[in-house]
Amino acid sequence: MLAVSPSSVLAEGSQHAAHQHGLATLNIVQNGTIVRAELTAAGADIVGFEHQATSEASKKKVSDALELLQQSANAIVWPIEFNCSTKESKTDLVSQEPDDHEEKDGHTNEDHHDDHGDQHEEEREHSEFVALYEWECRSFDLSGDVQLPVFNAFGTLTALTVNFVGDTVQGQQKVGRNIPRFQLGRLRP
Ligand SMILES: [Zn+2]
Repeated sequence: MLAVSPSSVLAEGSQHAAHQHGLATLNIVQNGTIVRAELTAAGADIVGFEHQATSEASKKKVSDALELLQQSANAIVWPIEFNCSTKESKTDLVSQEPDDHEEKDGHTNEDHHDDHGDQHEEEREHSEFVALYEWECRSFDLSGDVQLPVFNAFGTLTALTVNFVGDTVQGQQKVGRNIPRFQLGRLRP
């Protein structure tokens, strides 16, 4: 397991376990040459739904998304001067089961919703995509644009909050899909 987790990196008061729709989170920790990141995005922002995938179409959407995220270069690209190489990447779809309700047989309106990614049928069920990455970077510094091609990979993702904790700097920035990049040296404390 990677040592990055939302609870350890960011002291977010508003929501503890629940994710925020429309705003993904990218937590990055740098320790010497090792950089680890955890990307967490609501299923609604990645595949357009959060219920259990039961139809072939929705299962394929999920597996395609996981496959995309598995390649770190589809999510985040460090400046070439950093000389980063990917050491590890893991992806998962994490479901948050509703407390008082179980849908055992998947008898939902899924088939009606498959083509309507913006439907809000997910109030009871939430799921989120989590990707963990680890890189080794030879010359990590604070300049250069860090690219976030994750916005290209997922047209439904609108914004994400970058939280960075490094050896010499820490800070955060909200990044929107209109400008899908950030600079470590310009993060707000
Ligand atoms: Zn949700």
